Amino acid sequence: MKYISTRGNIEPVSFKDAVMMGLATDGGLLLPERIPLIDRTTLESWQKLSYRDLACAVISLFADDIPFEDLKRLIYISYDSFDHPEIAPILKKNGIYILELFHGPTLAFKDVALQLLGNMFEYLLKERKEKMNIVGATSGDTGSAAIYGVRGKENISIFILHPHGKTSPIQALQMTTVLDANVHNLAVQGTFDDCQNIVKALFNDLPFKQKYSLGAVNSINWARVLAQVVYYFYAYLRVASGCDKKVIFSVPTGNFGDIFAGYVAKRMGLPIKNLLLATNENNILTRFVNNGDYSIGGVVQTVSPSMDIQVASNFERYLYYLYNEDPARVRESFALFAETGRMEFTSEERERVLDDFSSRSVNQQETLATISAFYKEHSYLLDPHTAVGVRAALDTLPNDSPLICLATADPAKFGEAVKIATGEEPSRPAALDGIEKLPSRCDIKEADLEAIRNFIVEKAI
Ligand SMILES: *Cc1c(COP(=O)(O)O)cnc(C)c1O
Repeated sequence: MKYISTRGNIEPVSFKDAVMMGLATDGGLLLPERIPLIDRTTLESWQKLSYRDLACAVISLFADDIPFEDLKRLIYISYDSFDHPEIAPILKKNGIYILELFHGPTLAFKDVALQLLGNMFEYLLKERKEKMNIVGATSGDTGSAAIYGVRGKENISIFILHPHGKTSPIQALQMTTVLDANVHNLAVQGTFDDCQNIVKALFNDLPFKQKYSLGAVNSINWARVLAQVVYYFYAYLRVASGCDKKVIFSVPTGNFGDIFAGYVAKRMGLPIKNLLLATNENNILTRFVNNGDYSIGGVVQTVSPSMDIQVASNFERYLYYLYNEDPARVRESFALFAETGRMEFTSEERERVLDDFSSRSVNQQETLATISAFYKEHSYLLDPHTAVGVRAALDTLPNDSPLICLATADPAKFGEAVKIATGEEPSRPAALDGIEKLPSRCDIKEADLEAIRNFIVEKAI
């Protein structure tokens, strides 16, 4: 399987090279040159597989240059760090399914991909006798999940930029209390978009990228999307056991990585009727789906900070398919967007968007009310991100198709919002016990490209 760029200006690369490259060298995002199709017989044959074995089956289709036994070992060790035997258990609450994706070490769904990516990096760097400096931006959850994915690993350093004071206190502590020498936290005085722009600028500086062997962990890395495709299959197989039903997934969306994995699963032939794209007040993607209006607004801070994003980096991957795999059209759109802050779509394109997605923006008040009502009715605590998705799902009921809501974080990670909603502090899983008392390390920096670049130069391996 070869990988191409959404911007169309690179020679096709292997899976291994795609993982190491992160962002394509022409500024685009990498995608498989074709998406394998899964027929119903194959889908049925996957029914009995454990999460790990299903992951082997799905991922090996795209990662055919890693020997199967090696891939299997990487997948198996990656999910050893999860504290639930099923990895991604699914529960039914009053007509909707909740897919719990937060049983990894940092209690958010990002561990599902980043535990694997960390192990893949270590494996590939050893094989290539290379080193890597990972640079990434986080609105909260990616950072800690990435740090936990690579802490203490050989030949890797990691630099994570987070918006100072704009993550939840627990999110910041989960990053800054990791004291391994290869871990560097930068608290940037700005928004998540500022952090992401700095990281993009560093990656677009090709000589710098090469000299310091920059590696990406934010959801532009194809391996992350790929690892997330697995749980769409896993959930489907548990909910629609005859493999004859179409389902709806509700996905709390920020950077469009998680829902794009669902889109890949749909293109592979998984019977998904619709992907429900749930946003908070930062609703550019909802405006895009519902009105064809993709125009940038300011970032609003909400109780679901991991979704406080306007420009979603993985959206480009979807655009590539929306434009019938025409990289020239992708380049044009981004040129227009850079100039005017908006993109234009034909009515035919707008209709096709609605074949794949529906969307709902859920405000803060609705989010908190959903946490509170769901707790009263089901004695089950939703974290604020999951609550956005659940609220969007409940608003689309009644519906003939099973509705699966992705639960993206443990409520304890966002205890303050949950307490406002329910009056109760969620019980803390062992991973967070006493975290406030642990020693921590972090550098506070202005949102300035040069300052960040110098810091990396000084600390890089
Ligand atoms: C990252 C994150 C999201 C958004 O996922 P994207 O892939 O960025 O769309 C939603 N909820 C939580 C808890 C997250 O950490």
